[in-house]
Amino acid sequence: MLISWINKFSLIDYPWQTSCIVFTPGCNFRCGFCHNSEFVLPEKLKEVNKNLIPEKAIFNFLVKRKWLLNWVSICGWEPTIHKDLPKFCKRVKEMWFLVKLDTNGQSPKIIKYLLDNKLVDYIAMDIKNEIWKFSESAWVELDEKPYLESIKLILNSNIDYEFRTTVIKWIHTKEKIDNISKYIVWAKAYYLQNYRTWKTLDKNFKWESFSDKELEEFKNIWNLYIDKVWIRN
Ligand code: SF4
Repeated sequence: MLISWINKFSLIDYPWQTSCIVFTPGCNFRCGFCHNSEFVLPEKLKEVNKNLIPEKAIFNFLVKRKWLLNWVSICGWEPTIHKDLPKFCKRVKEMWFLVKLDTNGQSPKIIKYLLDNKLVDYIAMDIKNEIWKFSESAWVELDEKPYLESIKLILNSNIDYEFRTTVIKWIHTKEKIDNISKYIVWAKAYYLQNYRTWKTLDKNFKWESFSDKELEEFKNIWNLYIDKVWIRN
C-alpha cells in the first residue's frame, strides 16, 4: 500500500491508548477547506509519491514497537481508495495490533469487506454535510448512496466507531446540523470538530471558526439524537 508518512507515536488518535498513524496519499474528494492539498491534488501528489515509505520499513518499525503500541491507525487523505488496504490491515492484525480506520465513507464495499473479515477494530467516519449536499463540502459530484450505505454498515457493526463533522461557518447552519444528526440517530459517538486552519486547497476559501457558545448550541442539537457528543476544538 502507498504510504506517504507515519506519525510514530500518539496518545490522542485513540484516546488513552498508544498508537502510530499511517498516512496514505490521495483522496477522491476536493474539499476547498482541505489543509493538505499536496496529498490530494494529482499534480502535487507526483512530488509526494517520490518520497513514499516502503511497506517493509513500516512493518520493520511495527516489529520493533510491538511492546509499546496498541493501535495502528490508518488515515489519509483517504485510505479506502487503495485496493491493497485490506491486505495491509490483515498483516497488521496478524501482528496483534488493533486497527483504526479513518474514512470519508466513499467506499462501502471496502468497509464491508474489512468488517466482515474482522480486519478493523474502530472506524472514524467523516460526515461532511447533509448527504444530498455533500458536493457542497467535498467539491466533487457525488452519489449519496455509498455514504448512506457506509453509515448503515458502521451503525450496524459490532465494533466501536465514531462519526464526526468538521464544522465550517459558511457551510454549516443549525438546520444542517440538525439534518446531519438525523442520519446517525443513536450512534455510539459523535465528534464536532471546529475548523481552524489557514492553509487551504482553495486559496480563496474564507474560513471562520465557530465560537465555543455556537459549538455548544450544535452539541445540544446532536444530544437530542446521540448520547455521546464531544467537541474537538
Ligand atoms: S479534507 Fe479530507 S476528504 Fe476533503 S479533500 Fe482533504 S483529505 Fe480529502
